[in-house]
Amino acid sequence: MTRILPSYCLVMLLTLQSSAQERVIHFPDVAPFQTLVADLHMHTVFSDGSVWPNIRVDEALRDGLDVIAVTDHLEYLPHRHDIPFPDRNRPHEIATASAGDRPLVVINGSEITRRMPLGHLNAIFVQDANSLVLADSVAALQEANSQGAFVFWNHPNWVAQNPSGLAALNPVHLALLQEGLLHGIEIANDQTYSDEALAIALEHDLAILATSDIHGLVDWQFAVPEGGHRPVTLVFATGREKSAIREALRARRTVAYFKHRLIGRAETLEPLLAASLTVTNAAYGFGTTVVAVTISNASSTPFTLRNVSAYTLHEHTDLIVVPARGEVTIKVKTGERLSSLTLTFEALNALTAPGTHPRLPLAVDVP
Ligand SMILES: [Zn+2]
Ligand SMILES: [Zn+2]
Repeated sequence: MTRILPSYCLVMLLTLQSSAQERVIHFPDVAPFQTLVADLHMHTVFSDGSVWPNIRVDEALRDGLDVIAVTDHLEYLPHRHDIPFPDRNRPHEIATASAGDRPLVVINGSEITRRMPLGHLNAIFVQDANSLVLADSVAALQEANSQGAFVFWNHPNWVAQNPSGLAALNPVHLALLQEGLLHGIEIANDQTYSDEALAIALEHDLAILATSDIHGLVDWQFAVPEGGHRPVTLVFATGREKSAIREALRARRTVAYFKHRLIGRAETLEPLLAASLTVTNAAYGFGTTVVAVTISNASSTPFTLRNVSAYTLHEHTDLIVVPARGEVTIKVKTGERLSSLTLTFEALNALTAPGTHPRLPLAVDVP
């Protein structure tokens, strides 16, 4: 039996479909790599989170993530009397079983949770989280590394541990760096961002990471229904295998994505911008030397661009916005009819160092 849906039902259906699509975090691949969307720091009831691990998996799939690591605290277990568990690998095992054959890679991880000066560090790609429960924190990090872990310093700007919010390496971190036991740093965690952590990453060759550190629900914490998104790390990997993801992280091929901002090394971020923003049409107006150029955005974040080209614009000031998954047409006054030209923009919602916006050259061919 067929039923014709009333038109308001169709409108509702289309609205639901588009909002489900809009929440997906997507960036195009950057040859020769796949662009994987990863959240490498999150909690469940197995430490101080409020949800079972399967909720983390379902949230991640709704957000279009490719990779998650469930990283419950090793030392801080406020639910241990209600949920006693002897095996620290259980949250990972439950999450892995929940993901099943759906397109999400689940990595085993733990948050090594200490007072300052060490603070909190995540160890991911561990083989056995139980063997990281050690009184000596450096021994725990050595054990994680011996299991092949990728280790990063969490929220170095956290005011509960660092009241100034100014991230700074302590001697214990410098010793870890010298021994090759520390490989990355969160420059964004939950709602906070740290220019100082970015400077540390660039100076000490650490992977640049953004993570949700979610304890409650992603939708509530990051206002996803209102257009927000969780902080994630874009990982440029040769494939979706765990070994390829680990290799990419160890090689520092990452970009942090936080509050619609992209933060990364120039050599990683500039190719991502070039893959995201492309010229899809160009034509001179009849009898004029004003060329209409359409710039398309293949990513799920809007870009704010400042024109620093040799040419001025006819219908914009120096600022243009290219909407997420959309396009903008700008009119460029070239003074004469050209068969090709280059437009140059500063990407204002991208950072390659504190206060430094990358430049994006766009080649335009006019048929
Ligand atoms: Zn922490
Ligand atoms: Zn945490």
